[in-house]
Amino acid sequence: SEPILTARNLKRHYEVKGGFMKPPATVRALDGASFSLTPGRTLAVVGESGSGKSTLARVVTMIEPPTEGELSIGGRLIGPEGASRDRDLRAMVQIVFQDPYGSLNPRQTIGQTLMEPLLLNRPEIKPAERDARAREMLTLVGLRPEHFDRYPHMFSGGQRQRVAVARALMLDPKILVLDEPVSALDLSIQSQVLNLLMDLQERLGLAYLFISHDLSVVRHIADEVLVLYLGQPVEVGPKDEMFARPRHPYTKALLSATPVADPALRKERIKLTGELPSPMNKPPGCSFNPRCWRRLEICTSVEPALEGQGDHCYACHNPVPDDETAAA
Ligand code: ATP
Ligand code: MG
Repeated sequence: SEPILTARNLKRHYEVKGGFMKPPATVRALDGASFSLTPGRTLAVVGESGSGKSTLARVVTMIEPPTEGELSIGGRLIGPEGASRDRDLRAMVQIVFQDPYGSLNPRQTIGQTLMEPLLLNRPEIKPAERDARAREMLTLVGLRPEHFDRYPHMFSGGQRQRVAVARALMLDPKILVLDEPVSALDLSIQSQVLNLLMDLQERLGLAYLFISHDLSVVRHIADEVLVLYLGQPVEVGPKDEMFARPRHPYTKALLSATPVADPALRKERIKLTGELPSPMNKPPGCSFNPRCWRRLEICTSVEPALEGQGDHCYACHNPVPDDETAAA
């Protein structure tokens, strides 16, 4: 089906003030992301800490406007002039954060927490209807009606994350942005919440932007995968293709660091040398070149474009060849 959200060359830069011995600078937190989201499908965004995942989440959710590029949601354009105040447009994209403790108000009952988005976004809706909708969402996420009057501290981490999902669903969104939604949970609870999310997606036809640094979680939930490095996509494609034949050396390194159960599939771990450069001071050419073992002369001066065959694209002058992906 048609995409519900399209991003083109999306950027979010922050100007930071200088300080003692420090000149002012531009933080290129998100630096040109292009992708689309489709109803009923999940795009996973992966990348190490500081790669711009949460910045992308804030721009897509219209919490912050892009400083450059285009974001189109449900056919409406959101440009650098500012995030839309249109309440219908805002309702369409909702977010779930990593920390189910921090994101719920400890002084509010679960019921109050759930009804809040309706109170703010749809004040004309009658209290009885608001109440009924909140109870309906509680059941939808696998909680019980009697949980309505309880407080967050009476719940486990997994239950709190279910509440956060229920709240995100109150306005009947089309898109959920999930920023590390299971990273703070125990492993056994993680799969329960992931299964709930997959079930909800199927029932409600939601499009997911699923942010995670955990590739085993991504393998479980994603349809497509986008790898971010210093705010830029270095590789994007269908999940199976990305896991089987990573082309960008960075993707390959990330995958090699993921534990797999089957010893036959175990890969030699590629250790990346050097630190992630600062998004204030990105290296010329390919941003990954200082850490890349496949670096060529051209990589230090010419920025590679995101290109490929079909829907598998990568930004690399010297992509990993077929025999190497198979042997590794
Ligand atoms: P993590 O995996 O740790 O959550 P992330 O991929 O979500 O990391 P972001 O939080 O998006 O990364 O941050 C990307 C970069 O932008 C970081 O270098 C961060 O310090 C910087 N950054 C984010 N927000 C701001 C801001 N408001 N002002 C200045 N710099 C910022
Ligand atoms: Mg983050």
